[in-house]
Amino acid sequence: MDSKAIEKAVQAAVSEYNNEKNEQVKIGVSQRHVHLSQEDLYTLFGDGYTLTKKKTLMGREFAAEEVVTLVGPSLKAIEKVRVLGPVRKHTQVEISRTDTFVLKVSPPVRPSGNIEGSERIVIVGPKGSIYLKEGVIIANRHIHLTPSYAQKHGIKDNDYVDVLVEGIKPTKFYDVQVRVRDDFNVEMHIDTDDANSAGLKNGDIVKILK
Ligand SMILES: [Zn+2]
Repeated sequence: MDSKAIEKAVQAAVSEYNNEKNEQVKIGVSQRHVHLSQEDLYTLFGDGYTLTKKKTLMGREFAAEEVVTLVGPSLKAIEKVRVLGPVRKHTQVEISRTDTFVLKVSPPVRPSGNIEGSERIVIVGPKGSIYLKEGVIIANRHIHLTPSYAQKHGIKDNDYVDVLVEGIKPTKFYDVQVRVRDDFNVEMHIDTDDANSAGLKNGDIVKILK
């Protein structure tokens, strides 16, 4: 093998290595939304009510036709907040930091489902309202991966990775939580604040760095 051929082989190997490392992931921007327990769904929309699917999201998750109003201690309201289905064990409200200034609430940044001791809020529906004593969070940045994708790239469930954002407002997100499950798509979820700060929109591509 002459030196040119060796150089070519090395370049090919390096480029393949970089492609493996710089995994491309699609962005999904999460608007503010609410997950409801069965009981709270009935209180807000009426006994025996079932959600109407508007759009499938990931796995069994869907955006419902139904919306609610959030009212904070500011006595100001945010209207038409989308309900996501199916119903969950606990009601959870996911808003952005920007929303907290309207409502005057101080929710923690948390992974979805981790709501113990989180913020309170009033939720108003067409048939009733509830005073939610905990369940308001600012969802953490996270990446959903399929098991095959995760295995291929040496990433495990609950790993934390850095993510590079290129484009008009180049940014690096540090310590992004990875969640691996059979019914997930390969997708990074950020809230509207993160999306706006990094100039990102639905379907944009970012790269996992480690
Ligand atoms: Zn997500």
